[in-house]
Amino acid sequence: MHPALLALETHFSPSTLSQITHELLTQHRIELWLKRDDCLHSIISGNKWRKLKYHLNHALAVKATTLISMGGAYSNHLHALAYLGQRLHVKTVAYIRGEQPARLTPTLRDVLDWGMTLHFISRTDFRLLRYATPTELFMPLQATDYWLPEGGAHALALLGVGELVTEITEDFDVLCAPCGTGTTLAGLIAAVPAPCQLLGFAAVRHGQFLTRDITKLLPHTYTHWSVNTAYDFGGFAKTSPALLHFIADFERQHAIPLEPVYTGKMLYGVFDLIRQGYFAPGTKIIALHTGGLQGNRGFTRD
Ligand SMILES: *Cc1c(COP(=O)(O)O)cnc(C)c1O
Repeated sequence: MHPALLALETHFSPSTLSQITHELLTQHRIELWLKRDDCLHSIISGNKWRKLKYHLNHALAVKATTLISMGGAYSNHLHALAYLGQRLHVKTVAYIRGEQPARLTPTLRDVLDWGMTLHFISRTDFRLLRYATPTELFMPLQATDYWLPEGGAHALALLGVGELVTEITEDFDVLCAPCGTGTTLAGLIAAVPAPCQLLGFAAVRHGQFLTRDITKLLPHTYTHWSVNTAYDFGGFAKTSPALLHFIADFERQHAIPLEPVYTGKMLYGVFDLIRQGYFAPGTKIIALHTGGLQGNRGFTRD
């Protein structure tokens, strides 16, 4: 590991396990724990650090001077990348989905403060960029440029995610995680052996693509995982009164902050599946809190 990354990591807090108590869990004889990657760092979103760590290590090793990536106006990925770039003295550049808004989001204000250069591109170009590189669409990448695909979707991201599994000291039967690109779930699948099961919760609409994308990221064929697409609440960052009510209730009962884009949807799904008797009595579940709380500012539109 590059010394600059090791030095940075000394400022991280441990990601602990919190047991959740709830009468529904007692009724169904289910044990539920939250792996608190939201606690890792006050600024860097949990799973974004996990996914970026080995990308950054590689970028530093090849002496890259600019990290280039893409994302939306509330992106946890770009927020983490901009902050890390500033800390590591590496330039950061981002292609942002859609036109420049009259009023920048809190996320974009932060990334600009940390020195990130922004290029606003059309939604069509953004979609194309998911399957290409800037060289093919906009301008050639230089030898010292390091391109990070959306969601850090790359084998290097799986290594960092695998580290969180080694921190789990409890036995468990099922490990749950929210899915955007599915890269985090892929890392968990590769790191957790059967008979434990991995259960992803699609945070995006038409989440069926996740199974294909996750399969592509994995080095072998695995069969101990699946992605549930029933709790997307109409699409990425879409919510419903029921979801928001569940989140407010959960935060009040357990004093654990959630956000409605990823972890809130996953936990809503976990509780709903428990209610339906999906998990056998005696099942021990760990759900990954992936962080992303900075994105909550998107919901107040301040
Ligand atoms: C990006 C993100 C995810 C989704 O991760 P993927 O690896 O793209 O599936 C989940 N939770 C939070 C908080 C995120 O920021």
